[in-house]
Amino acid sequence: MSDSNAFAPPEFLPGWVWLVGAGPGDPGLLTLLAAHALGRADVVVYDALVDERILGLAASGAERVYAGKRGGKPSPSQPDISDRLIRLAREGKRVLRLKGGDPFVFGRGGEEALALVAAGVPFRVIPGVSAGIGGLAYAGIPVTHRDVNSAVTFVTGHNAVGEVPDGLDWPALARGSPVLVFYMALKHLGAICDRLVAAGRPRDDAVAIVCKAATDQQTVLETTLAEAAARAVAAGLEPPAIVVIGDAVRLRKGLDWLGAIEHGRVLDADPLGLKRRQQAG
Ligand code: SAH
Repeated sequence: MSDSNAFAPPEFLPGWVWLVGAGPGDPGLLTLLAAHALGRADVVVYDALVDERILGLAASGAERVYAGKRGGKPSPSQPDISDRLIRLAREGKRVLRLKGGDPFVFGRGGEEALALVAAGVPFRVIPGVSAGIGGLAYAGIPVTHRDVNSAVTFVTGHNAVGEVPDGLDWPALARGSPVLVFYMALKHLGAICDRLVAAGRPRDDAVAIVCKAATDQQTVLETTLAEAAARAVAAGLEPPAIVVIGDAVRLRKGLDWLGAIEHGRVLDADPLGLKRRQQAG
């Protein structure tokens, strides 16, 4: 490739806010733009879900501002965070707002960006790998697979006040979406599974709970709709976790590439049993 074709990231100008997705954990999943921004930012305002190793990539002189919950202290309110971004930008800083996963997927990135618009602060949005896609890939679960689903639905397991969202059409979700990917669902897992079963989803539908996906502490629990909540409690699972429901989970038998690399797991090239069925029939 000649130099003229080389990737040249835009300059991170003073007074700008870059709203950046950090991905689910593994720093290797950062975009080139995110890595560039980390190297240039004067201040990094980050959330609880941003991996320490990613913060470690910030320039040594960069100020780090934590904007999430920790140690039981209440989290700063959304207006507080937005005000802070605006203030820092107006001080002429290069402000990197770093959020777990993708900033526009259940991350309130849209709200922060709208506050910047209202304040006339220039900004850029750098998407990241969302936990409900990339985190599941690290568990060997593709969110779509031709033999399984031609649609997937991303759902939040709790609303702004921490309850199971009421505005959802549970029967439509249960019937219409072969694969459901829940964020923030651990706390209300029992209620969520009950609603899906009540709406017609089979009790033995496959479920995987992927905790701390794409980090060194990733765990995956495979279970069923009927048993998921009890198994999660028994295993002492802790957030962050993605819960995926549907036959996509069964592909893990064939696609748990990380298990194969790290634990010598033997992969099944026909995880859905389609070829075996064809041969038998
Ligand atoms: N913007 C983020 C989601 C923020 S909401 C994204 O695109 O991924 C926070 C929820 O994301 C968590 O409760 C959990 O459901 C999910 N999550 C984020 N990082 C995760 C990880 N490494 N492993 C599992 N779930 C994760």
